Amino acid sequence: MSDVEVDPAALRHGAADHGEAAPHVDILSARDVPLGGPRSMTVRRTLPQRARTLIGAWCFVDHYGPDDVADTGGMDVAPHPHTGLQTVSWLFSGEIEHRDSLGSHAFVRPGELNLMTGGYGISHTEVSTTRTTILHGVQLWVALPEEHRYTARDFRHYVPSPVRVGGAHIRVFLGSLAGETSPVRTFTPLLGAELVLDPGSKTTLPVNAAFEYGLLVDQGDVRMAGTLLRPAELGYLGTGNDTLTLTNETDTPARAVLLGGTPFEERIVMWWNFIGRSHKDIVEAREAWENASDRFGSVDGYDGDRLPAPALPNATISPRNNPTRH
Ligand code: MN
Repeated sequence: MSDVEVDPAALRHGAADHGEAAPHVDILSARDVPLGGPRSMTVRRTLPQRARTLIGAWCFVDHYGPDDVADTGGMDVAPHPHTGLQTVSWLFSGEIEHRDSLGSHAFVRPGELNLMTGGYGISHTEVSTTRTTILHGVQLWVALPEEHRYTARDFRHYVPSPVRVGGAHIRVFLGSLAGETSPVRTFTPLLGAELVLDPGSKTTLPVNAAFEYGLLVDQGDVRMAGTLLRPAELGYLGTGNDTLTLTNETDTPARAVLLGGTPFEERIVMWWNFIGRSHKDIVEAREAWENASDRFGSVDGYDGDRLPAPALPNATISPRNNPTRH
């Protein structure tokens, strides 16, 4: 996916609705962002936003659909570059055709992880297929740590087996949860999992106390550690918890994506589709793309022009880090 937005958003402090002392959960609300293009589909973005830049190394959370592609035109993202990050595509419905400058050609389907490592530089296209009627899923980015941010391009496909814990059906696509471990390499300790919660069920999962967590609710109302989250909201829970209790407050199945990781302490500069450490890193990456340098390679099989980089802002782009927790 390609970032066309330049905007902030809102933070609602979640209140635990029970008398017991529950861990504090911040509720990060989504804002609507058009993806650009002639028939521009819209995504709901919860990360980054003013109140929070990262959860672990997760630095970008876009949530879309269910969209009838006859109405929205579906997804059609022309060749565009990435550096300093990995992209994670996870679908609930529909199908996306992925091509990249590594030569990868893959179909992104529900329940299947597709992880692309940009490293020093990669370019790719994402197009929903003609077989798709309803498009519904998430697009996530992971910041690479300094020592690996110029790693080689890579692309991985993995289909996790679902596991059941209490009232939850879990697919662990990155990291470890519920006794399942994804074989796909990450460069910092990370978790990514889809959870489907039975109607009215309450499930307590053992989790890593060194991790912070984000729960993106797709459907249903889900209580996370005492705080009620509605669809499209991202609940944030800091480190120091060795269990996580999730309750589906609705009488239909609920679905959510659980993200986690050890706090990412490096200050990053995010601009368009690039992650660097300085304004200079961004200027160099932008110039390389505009000059069609080998840094990002080229994508075969896409019918259309590459995306031009937007103009740089007049001001120096400042590094972001997370606010201190209160
Ligand atoms: Mn992309």
